[in-house]
Order: sequence, then structure tokens, then C-alpha cells
Amino acid sequence: MENRGMEILVGLMLLIALLAILSSSCVFAGRQRVDTVVLPIMNDMLGLTTCNGNRPLVVIRSGLDKNSIVTVLQHEEIHVSQMRRFPSCKDFARLYAKSADFRLKMELEAYCPEARAMSLVSEKDSVTRHLSVHLIRTTGTLTPLPAVEKMVRGCLG
Ligand SMILES: [Zn+2]
Repeated sequence: MENRGMEILVGLMLLIALLAILSSSCVFAGRQRVDTVVLPIMNDMLGLTTCNGNRPLVVIRSGLDKNSIVTVLQHEEIHVSQMRRFPSCKDFARLYAKSADFRLKMELEAYCPEARAMSLVSEKDSVTRHLSVHLIRTTGTLTPLPAVEKMVRGCLG
């Protein structure tokens, strides 16, 4: 009986996911449309960009307030444009999954506009340290902290 309940729950979750994708909205990244869906995301990520077929698909965590959605969209739209520099978004996704240094480079580019804005109201050194630690933790890079901080300072200008 418990298994049946679990099957129904999984079925319902899949249905909700499908409905969300079917009713997905489009937002603009640069001048091109981007498929966007809002879904519950299980880990602590606020958003992600993935390949749907061979098109970039932005997933935004459900339940975010308006400001967070705008911030997440700005970040994910940079990943969409990064994907579009590749012959296919699957090529990008493969390299992203394989190389920690590639992830570091891509995430630095995606976080930079937000970090630059933060450095207008917070101390540059603390923004640099905070973002560098975040990048090392989330990308799994073996690049040492001082080198990552140097990269971040380069993006802050
Ligand atoms: Zn990112």
C-alpha cells in the first residue's frame, strides 16, 4: 500500500513538472528567446540552465520573490549566452560537467555583474573573498584561493 502511495506521489510530481514545462514562459536573453520554467528545485540552488533537447532551458526555483527571480534570471541568461557560443548546448554541458576550471570560468562570468553591483555598496575585498570562496566551493576547482581572488578582482575592475 505504501509503495502504491509513493507511485502516485511520483506520478503527480511528474505531471506537475510536465505541466510547468508545457506552460513555460519565454524571456529574452540578449535578443533571443529563452525557454524558462519555474519548478521546485531539491538542493539549495536558486536556478539552473540545462539543455532541453538541444536548446537551453532556464529553471527557476519556485517560491522566489521578484527581486531574487530577476537576479537569478540575469545569472542564468549569461549561461544561456555562453551555451550559444558553442556549436550545441550539449557540448557546453559536457565540458561544464567534466572540467572544474571551465565551471570556474563560466560561473565567474555569470556572477561578475552581480558582484560588481555589490562592490558599489560593500567593501570590494569582502565581495572578492565571499565570491571566491563560493566559486571554489561550488565549482570544485583546485585553483588556490589567492588565484581565484585575483580573477574575481579582475572582473570587478
Ligand atoms: Zn551559474
